Amino acid sequence: MAKHLRVTFLGGLGEIGRNCLALEQDGRIVVVDAGLMFPEPTMYGVDLILPDFRWLVERRDRVDGIVLTHGHEDHTGALRYLLADVNVPVYGAPLTVGFARHRLAEAKGLGSLEFIEVADNERRRIGPFEVEFIPVTHSVPSAHSLAIHTADGVVIHSGDFKLDPTPIDDRRTDLARLAALGDEGVALLLCDSTNAEEPGYTPSEREVGGALRRLFLERPDRRMVVACFASHIHRIQQIIDVATGQGRKVALMGRSMEANVKLARRLHQLRAEASDFIDLANVDRYAPGEVCVICTGSQGEPMAALTKISRGDARQLEVGDQDTVILSSHPIPGNEWSVGRVIDDLHRLGVEVIHSGQEPVHASGHARQGELRTYHQLVRPRNFIPVHGEYRHMAHHARLARTMGMPPRHILLCEDGDQVEVRPEGIRKVGRVPAGFHFIDGGAGDLDERPLEERRMLAEYGVLLISAGVDAEAGRLAQPVRVSARGWFDGEGDRQLIVAVTEEVREALEEALEDGQRDEGALNKVAQRAAGRLLGQRFRRQPVLLPAIVVL
Ligand SMILES: [Zn+2]
Ligand SMILES: [Zn+2]
Repeated sequence: MAKHLRVTFLGGLGEIGRNCLALEQDGRIVVVDAGLMFPEPTMYGVDLILPDFRWLVERRDRVDGIVLTHGHEDHTGALRYLLADVNVPVYGAPLTVGFARHRLAEAKGLGSLEFIEVADNERRRIGPFEVEFIPVTHSVPSAHSLAIHTADGVVIHSGDFKLDPTPIDDRRTDLARLAALGDEGVALLLCDSTNAEEPGYTPSEREVGGALRRLFLERPDRRMVVACFASHIHRIQQIIDVATGQGRKVALMGRSMEANVKLARRLHQLRAEASDFIDLANVDRYAPGEVCVICTGSQGEPMAALTKISRGDARQLEVGDQDTVILSSHPIPGNEWSVGRVIDDLHRLGVEVIHSGQEPVHASGHARQGELRTYHQLVRPRNFIPVHGEYRHMAHHARLARTMGMPPRHILLCEDGDQVEVRPEGIRKVGRVPAGFHFIDGGAGDLDERPLEERRMLAEYGVLLISAGVDAEAGRLAQPVRVSARGWFDGEGDRQLIVAVTEEVREALEEALEDGQRDEGALNKVAQRAAGRLLGQRFRRQPVLLPAIVVL
């Protein structure tokens, strides 16, 4: 058993998404966050990407709890998969836990799970640790930095944060507590790197409200449709305030939008009257200038409300030249293409579209360099590991720490799978654990890298199926060679090509049979090689060759 505190990074270091790490002392483990990541367009059929939880599952008897920093999917979205194998209490703010519970209930995975709600600044003993929940501002309410008190000193995990001096709910980052912890001494800081490349300060969420108010005022007779993240309760609050302030009624669109607004109102984290809202079905009874629709789909997600609206597929809302759609968001890397298509389709319908490239209708939830410097200065850690970012973000964050006078040997750039030990003299990497992507295909369940690679090949190159039947006794073809193609070229020229491939394979097979070859596997290789040879002479890229030679 390791003598000192160990941190094992299971996700989020080298990508934006699937955040998860484990702290281990005296053989006991506490997990921080269990998030998911959304796939790239070339990950065919992949719906979600999870951390590889095997390392945790093998140690499930030693896990004492899972702590959530905040309610975003990249921190909570993999919970249902982890809890299925490691059923331990989940700690977090009421809203954080509420979001997580809701998603688990949707997946019918609530069963006998234990959720423990914590208050701001509360300290909880979890296993060998005392975990303190320090309020920070972010793009979802109730976000926390964690101060984890361990036998090897205090570890501060920043969680996702920005330093917003004028947050919508007046719940500011507890700078005083962070400074006090800094005074007492912090052994290790793990800190959000998302915006570490960007100089300056992230604008306050409140500035978005000002921009929205102006845009609404300039359009008193138009129907306003605003898309944003369903978890961004403060953004939703500002949209509601602007709309109702101008005498508009608000209709919500999208399942998660409705559910989150309901939950946030119940927890008194969203201030709105029941009379502010109307049913989406009744929107057409109002003049365009009397309504505002708040919907999901700001990332161009295929099944979300805005995407359906843009395709004219939304049953209850048809948009046209009387509508203004505001995308109160910024595309997450990888989503630019889908968002662009939604914007194009809206223009086709005659809609006026406003996005963050034109107007300040979005503010990031992550700290830029100025805020990161402030955080470092308050905490003054002995050791530092950048987290939550692609590699370049973490590299920039490490550089920032160096420019603030941290000795380079106390800064470690880690990646998913790294294990780090915290000792009095410093930190060092002590091992690696499996931490690759775990792909989930919604229809089929788990998906390994191999079938995914095959899907990529099929998608890129197409497939050529080569079949034939062999009479083993007579040593000749009993059923002729047939070649059919899918996703490969088609047309007259290619028909000739198919004929040529068929001929080539037939000759090769007959030759092999003459030489006495009867083994099915060997004959399949002969067919594949013959087709590959011919295609290789003419094309730089070959289709996937699928031989099906049967010995009868
Ligand atoms: Zn995050
Ligand atoms: Zn977040």
